[in-house]
Amino acid sequence: MSFEDKTIIITGGAKGIGAGCAEIFYRQNGNVVVLDLDEETGQAFCNDLGDRARFIKCDVSRKQQVKQAIGQVVSAFGGVDVLVNNAGILQYSKVTDTSEEDWDRILDVNVKGAFLCAKYAIPHMVAGGSGIVVNMSSVQAFVTQTNVAPYVTSKSALIGLTRSIAVDYAPEVRSVAICPGGVDTPLNRAAFQQSPNPSKVRQETIDLHLVERMAQPGDIGELVAFVASDKGSFINGQPIRIDGGMGIKIAGSK
Ligand code: NAD
Repeated sequence: MSFEDKTIIITGGAKGIGAGCAEIFYRQNGNVVVLDLDEETGQAFCNDLGDRARFIKCDVSRKQQVKQAIGQVVSAFGGVDVLVNNAGILQYSKVTDTSEEDWDRILDVNVKGAFLCAKYAIPHMVAGGSGIVVNMSSVQAFVTQTNVAPYVTSKSALIGLTRSIAVDYAPEVRSVAICPGGVDTPLNRAAFQQSPNPSKVRQETIDLHLVERMAQPGDIGELVAFVASDKGSFINGQPIRIDGGMGIKIAGSK
């Protein structure tokens, strides 16, 4: 795989899965642009990556910020080849205890953010003759734990957005949804800390995966890079689970 002369935008790329994706695209010679709220971490991360990496502070749920950030990318690199809509937030709540404000906040970042980035990046892909939008969904779009209603709704919506982009912009632009299981990231570590017994919850999470571990961000990054590369050029409009075999074993079977 080579992303030489390709420009890859990764939202939420300052840490976690997004940073794992950024490292792999960078290693494959791509120009990598991280859009994230966390300026300190994101800037330091891009400085460490090297001179083909740029950080732009951007809240993906804000139209003007997204429009401006993508304009900056195009001015600097001449186009956009890959957009990884990875920025996402999680909150534990069910429908009856989710406030309207929290619902809007989660859907705004996880779904509207992906829509806005796609809206402003796709015209540059079409103009350049090719491109791909990768949306970071979750295995939770298929199997769902309790207490995460707005998150699950948002991750399911991204599969619809993926399908719509694929049918509306073919053949130039492809779109794929990536659906990870548990990944060892700051988001998950913070979620474990919210429980009274973090190490127990962590082990329970590991036990959900047949491979008896959580993914590392690089596991997900390798799949994103493959899908975005020429080698993945026949993959389009689909969600792809990368979940260590979560949820496929019949309970109680040996
Ligand atoms: P993380 O919290 O470790 O990192 C997310 C990054 O997104 C952070 O750097 C944060 O600053 C940034 N971000 C948050 N809101 C933003 C906004 N409005 N605009 C720009 N940047 C913003 O999260 P992660 O675990 O790496 O998850 C990344 C994505 O993968 C999320 O969409 C998440 O839902 C999804 N996912 C994670 C897991 C997992 O187990 N960690 C599993 C399935 C799917």
